[in-house]
Amino acid sequence: MSFDYDLFVIGGGSGGVRAARVAAQAGARVALAEEDRYGGTCVQRGCVPKKLMVFASEYPGYIEDAKAYGWDATLGDFNWDAFKSKLHAELDRLEGVYRNILGNNGVQTFDARAKLADPHTVELSDGSRKTAKHILLAMGGWPVLPDIKGAELGITSNDVFHLDALPETMLILGGGYIACEFACILNGLGVNVTQYYRGAQILRGFDEEARGLVSEEMQQNGIDLHLGTNILEMAQDGDKIRVKATNGTERVFDKVMFATGRRPNTADMGLEELGVKLGRYGEVLVDEYSQTNIPSIYAVGDVTDRVNLTPVAIREGMAFVETVFKGNPTPVDHDLIPTAIFTQPEMGTIGMSEEEARDRGPIEVYATSFKPMRESFAGRAQRVLMKLVVCADTRRVLGCHIVAPGAGEMIQLAGIAVKMGATKEDFDRTVAVHPTMSEEIVTMREPVRTA
Ligand SMILES: Cc1cc2nc3c(=O)[nH]c(=O)nc-3n(C[C@H](O)[C@H](O)[C@H](O)COP(=O)(O)OP(=O)(O)OC[C@H]3O[C@@H](n4cnc5c(N)ncnc54)[C@H](O)[C@@H]3O)c2cc1C
Repeated sequence: MSFDYDLFVIGGGSGGVRAARVAAQAGARVALAEEDRYGGTCVQRGCVPKKLMVFASEYPGYIEDAKAYGWDATLGDFNWDAFKSKLHAELDRLEGVYRNILGNNGVQTFDARAKLADPHTVELSDGSRKTAKHILLAMGGWPVLPDIKGAELGITSNDVFHLDALPETMLILGGGYIACEFACILNGLGVNVTQYYRGAQILRGFDEEARGLVSEEMQQNGIDLHLGTNILEMAQDGDKIRVKATNGTERVFDKVMFATGRRPNTADMGLEELGVKLGRYGEVLVDEYSQTNIPSIYAVGDVTDRVNLTPVAIREGMAFVETVFKGNPTPVDHDLIPTAIFTQPEMGTIGMSEEEARDRGPIEVYATSFKPMRESFAGRAQRVLMKLVVCADTRRVLGCHIVAPGAGEMIQLAGIAVKMGATKEDFDRTVAVHPTMSEEIVTMREPVRTA
């Protein structure tokens, strides 16, 4: 049977664009449909615009530090309109880059929504149909609103980049990394931020000591964090939103932002009709090669809800191409993925938390928390944390957790050692770089506890 294409990719985000490009470079005839903007979540409403906002939000701290270091510096006003137009010009530029990557590599693109018609056929929103030997689902995910009365009055992270003006007060609901990052960003930009989270501590799943420090520092920086607190109901109150909470309070905010989870974009895609197996939250179920139960259909990235990060979606896309177009079956390696949370202070982490590791066997914990030289001189109360979780038997470093300015940059490098299977003694053998914060990661001699 002859097909229009060797590969049809649905979704022009991190995973889809990478898979389409690499497959085309390997000689495959490739098409890709994108219903919105090329670059997907990461480029248009995730990592990139978020990180630019993180940068913008850090300047007040720099001005304070500059004064402490003897500079005659004063902080002026933040011009949201000026920043926003520059931000969107950058996102437009990046969209162009992604389009060019596809075009220059001979991938045919369709600016359309696509859904499945049969195991080898995609139907586009203009009604046309395209056939392909393989179909790759890379539709990503979308934020979900909680089931709360008045929830339609709230916004999500998607909307923050498009606000007409920065609000004076904002309530953020959620305790995951997106909620915490936006709480820090908006706080830094001068918004009065309140954060409600129903759990006992933010950043569930991460090392307890590390998330405890981030939580403490966020509050010290002025975020009004309420743990064990959820929204009961919301109502319009003039141009503000009145919020009743489970802690018995009723407060009024200019904006309410939900960061209460994301769901895979699998609704109305023809997947159920075709018998593609989906999980409880609509995620596409795949094997280690990203293949679904229908042999011609594969899925990568957030739509599979494995590890929802851009570099992971990209690797899944590349492993798919190795497997299907290069005759080199390549399972995706989801073990020991370093990651960063761009709160203020940042957290960088790889491997097991202390809690996770101690459930598996005997461990030693090496940790140090201190005021870094730069911030201490400037009179900031900020503390940092360097922590290694070590297997008592093999001496391997099972987890590395850093809370510090620049922790994202540090964990990328420490991550190589941990991924290579470095032992505590390998860390010890490495000479410190002095004076830095990260030198502490190689100078911790005695465990603070064993478990
Ligand atoms: C606020 C925020 C911050 C983040 N920060 C980070 C970070 O710092 N680091 C990190 O690694 N990750 C971060 N992420 C996660 C990261 O953005 C995602 O893991 C990544 O974008 C997933 O890529 P993907 O290819 O699976 O999907 P996406 O990038 O979401 O791309 C999917 C694309 O498919 C399109 N699409 C959907 N359905 C259809 C259809 N039927 N037809 C045609 N097109 C369709 C969508 O329009 C979209 O463009 C963040 C996410 C958010 C929301």
